Amino acid sequence: MKKRKWFQLLLLSIIAVFVLAACGGGSDEASNEESGENGGKLEEIKKNDKIVFGVKNDTRLFGLKNPSTGEVEGFDIDIAKALAKEILGDENKAEFKEVTSKTRMPLLNNGDIDAIVATMTITDERKKEVDFTDVYFDAGQSLLVKKGSKVKSIEDLKGVKVLAVKGSTSAINIREKAPEAQVLEFENYSEAFNALKTGQGEALTTDDAILYGMADENPDYELVGGTFTEEPYGIAVKKGNQDFVDELNKALKALKDSGKYDEIKDKWIKQR
Ligand code: GLU
Repeated sequence: MKKRKWFQLLLLSIIAVFVLAACGGGSDEASNEESGENGGKLEEIKKNDKIVFGVKNDTRLFGLKNPSTGEVEGFDIDIAKALAKEILGDENKAEFKEVTSKTRMPLLNNGDIDAIVATMTITDERKKEVDFTDVYFDAGQSLLVKKGSKVKSIEDLKGVKVLAVKGSTSAINIREKAPEAQVLEFENYSEAFNALKTGQGEALTTDDAILYGMADENPDYELVGGTFTEEPYGIAVKKGNQDFVDELNKALKALKDSGKYDEIKDKWIKQR
């Protein structure tokens, strides 16, 4: 009898150990989910004392590499530097890696970059894969054509070759808004603009703000037909890092309140 009681006690203790271990594991997982892997992105950024931003290198006015200095320049670049100054106290703590519309979400999700500041529209579809900050810029999709083109608006695209960039909302929207157009997709915006200049298509479609940069560079081209979508830009962060999203939103608000945001916008965005 005594022996049996002792055995029951042992069995209960073993069960208790397993139950406690399972609970402990569960709560660890939950806190990892909340703050991301390795204790959270915000913590990691503070520890590394830098933020690696994915930015465009071929998009005039937003993110363009200056061949003479090797530096990237533009609205997105200045916003990223100002965010690094707000969060880490020094704009030089912003580091930049090139992304294209197609590569930006994979590069974010495999940890190559901490955040995307690259003319990226907030959409419900993308929200399934990444988290976004508040809107920091409002654009809208439009068309760029050679001056004198027969294409004057989205109504004139029947049977017309339209150029777009892979992974952009523009490539999706144009098929919906002008189903009879023939859409050709390129890797990035410099390839797409070259294709327009060499006559591979009659129109290039993307955000008006990006097209203004191309028209500025080459006065033979103009925007036509106004905008036909809304493209609110957000900064994207890997899912599960709400603390980092909150910190970025706080920093964006501080930039707006201090007038720094307007200063950056006035420097780069003239047509609005
Ligand atoms: N804003 C649009 C997008 O997020 C077009 C610009 C781009 O390709 O980055 O897709």
